[in-house]
Amino acid sequence: MIFEHIKEFFKRVLSSIEGLFFLILGIIYLGIPLLKNTHIESAAVSTVIASLWLLGQKKAQRRFIYSSLIFVYLSLIPILISDGIRGCFSLDGLLFWLVIPIPSLLLSNSIRTIVQNFSDSKDKEEVGIGVRIISIVIFLFIAIGIPIIELKLNPSVFLYNPIWGFWPGPIYDEQITFPFQLVIHRFYVLLWAVMLWEIARKKQELVRIAVLFAAISLLFLNFRQLGILRTQRDLQQILSTHLSNKNIHLYVDPSEKDSVLLNYYLQTAMFHFDEVQSWLKTDIKEPISIYLYKHPWQKKQLIGAKYTQFTPVWSSGYQLHIDMESWDDVVRHELVHLIAKSFANSPIGASLNLGITEGLATALNPNVSERNTLDEFVAAGEIPTVTEMKTLFSLTGFYLQSLANAYYKSGSFMQYLIHNESVDAVKKWYAEGSFLEAFNKSEEDLITNWQTYLRTFSVDSVLKKTARKRFAQPSLFNQKCPRFINPGYALWDKLLLFKAEKDSSSFRKALFSANEIQDSLWNSFYKRQIFLFYLNENQPDTALLYQKEKEIGTFLWSDALLLAGKEDDLKSLKMQNDSLFRTSTLRSESLVHKTFCKLWYSGEFPASFRHFPSDLIEVAILVIQQKRAYSEISKIQQVIDIVSDTEILKWLVFLQKRNESQFALDCIQLLKDRSIREESKRRLHELDRFQVVRSQTND
Ligand SMILES: [Zn+2]
Repeated sequence: MIFEHIKEFFKRVLSSIEGLFFLILGIIYLGIPLLKNTHIESAAVSTVIASLWLLGQKKAQRRFIYSSLIFVYLSLIPILISDGIRGCFSLDGLLFWLVIPIPSLLLSNSIRTIVQNFSDSKDKEEVGIGVRIISIVIFLFIAIGIPIIELKLNPSVFLYNPIWGFWPGPIYDEQITFPFQLVIHRFYVLLWAVMLWEIARKKQELVRIAVLFAAISLLFLNFRQLGILRTQRDLQQILSTHLSNKNIHLYVDPSEKDSVLLNYYLQTAMFHFDEVQSWLKTDIKEPISIYLYKHPWQKKQLIGAKYTQFTPVWSSGYQLHIDMESWDDVVRHELVHLIAKSFANSPIGASLNLGITEGLATALNPNVSERNTLDEFVAAGEIPTVTEMKTLFSLTGFYLQSLANAYYKSGSFMQYLIHNESVDAVKKWYAEGSFLEAFNKSEEDLITNWQTYLRTFSVDSVLKKTARKRFAQPSLFNQKCPRFINPGYALWDKLLLFKAEKDSSSFRKALFSANEIQDSLWNSFYKRQIFLFYLNENQPDTALLYQKEKEIGTFLWSDALLLAGKEDDLKSLKMQNDSLFRTSTLRSESLVHKTFCKLWYSGEFPASFRHFPSDLIEVAILVIQQKRAYSEISKIQQVIDIVSDTEILKWLVFLQKRNESQFALDCIQLLKDRSIREESKRRLHELDRFQVVRSQTND
């Protein structure tokens, strides 16, 4: 019986051209990256198309709402089936599909009804062409105009919209979860739809309209509280620690109270700002606001970007947003975007061509690998062809490449242009987009010259392998399930947040929920994590009871045996797996192994680091930073000369963070006396320049 009804229903729907159209639309989605999944993007597109269809109808009939709703969900069928087959289904994605369409369609219908009502047309059954056009204009203003205004005014990159629902922020933050705020916002849109419809009625009930209006206003006034809207003033209240020097203003989360560190942030910002300004020959006098978040999750919650650091160049004024752990890697890159805004000649405050925009930032902050320079890295991959480079610098070409491809290749080329042509020409290209006018030479010629320059690098096979692997990563658009969140990964993300928040009870609870994950790879990953948890909690016996050696791996197993004092078991383990332990400088020798375990699992430092291998010192450096064990600094300094160049560079950054200027100078001298790789040299010079500038300002 029910089956008959469903059959009848489909027969009717599919006999209409529109029904067929939307079903085919769903099939077309399957061939389009990001749209091919049951997720926010496809939900938004279908809703917009169905709303436009509704607004364009000639007859004024209420049944169009039902029809348009059915159409939306017809386009869902193909992608839902495809997700099921490919194993890409996500519940969050389905939730977007459930809450977005209905309020949008009702709102569209109300807009049309109210415009119809205010027109002086006598025919209430027919919707005149004028009414339809005005309705569509209003619709487009809500869907496009309002977001543009919001982006101009506010720093946040997430957007809630009455028509298409929600935009979570940068597309590179792959994990998009369903925010509870969206439910509130959809309810808000629903109230609007009902109120407008109520106003359009022949017999208006003023009380009802007043109540609806009051509810709408009340909700809207709470948008900032709820996190649906976010202004710069809100951010300055939340990130309430304010430091400034000249025109640079730093707003930091108040949980960071270390004044030495805060000072470091301000001074590095000043240093990179001044250097990049002198490179690019600019002189910005306006205030620069830098928002520094305690971790990526706070950034996500407040403005919608998580692992993406960004400079909203399109927004008013000069501002940038970074989280503390990414500071050293990205502050210079983001400052380039910010400074380039002053000569960008476009409504978005950067070159419309993303290859030029990101290329310039990468060129002036080219730390892409610890061991190799940007150019060496690009030279080690396949040297990009002229066509590839030209597409990279086309309007959409940048997005179609993977991140590594796009940033490194455009960065290396821009760096070449800065050094071999002129900064002024590069700025002109940035501002106006025409290569020929900026450089007076053809793009092909300069790409060819750059290729010849890249070929001068001798490339070893190890680098070749890493480079090719990195360049072979698919872009977000080419991934199988770009928006699918593996439960194992989602949990890991949660655990990292609890760790950053130092919330140990939530961490513990979440960690043990991992037993429910049905994925063999993640399962063994979490077995090791739980094992590690017991070791960190000083319960090695429980850890050993809980797991088997072959699931945990010999290294961790041996650590547990040592911590539990099971020396005989440890001895026989070492005999069995002799070859494995021989290569491990941390675990082969008893004293080193014991010192390592105490250091790594309990944060206990030895009295001196003399006579220990460099691997152990590197571990100690990590632990000192994590535990903020600053009293250990001088002990490390005594043995720092046995550590590798790249590790000394990291140590040097840490010393500068602590403002240990004498030790920092010692490390700089130590590295200057060594013969080091090009990339290390570049980084050393940068840190050296910072040290000099800083000592001048401190005097
Ligand atoms: Zn960038």
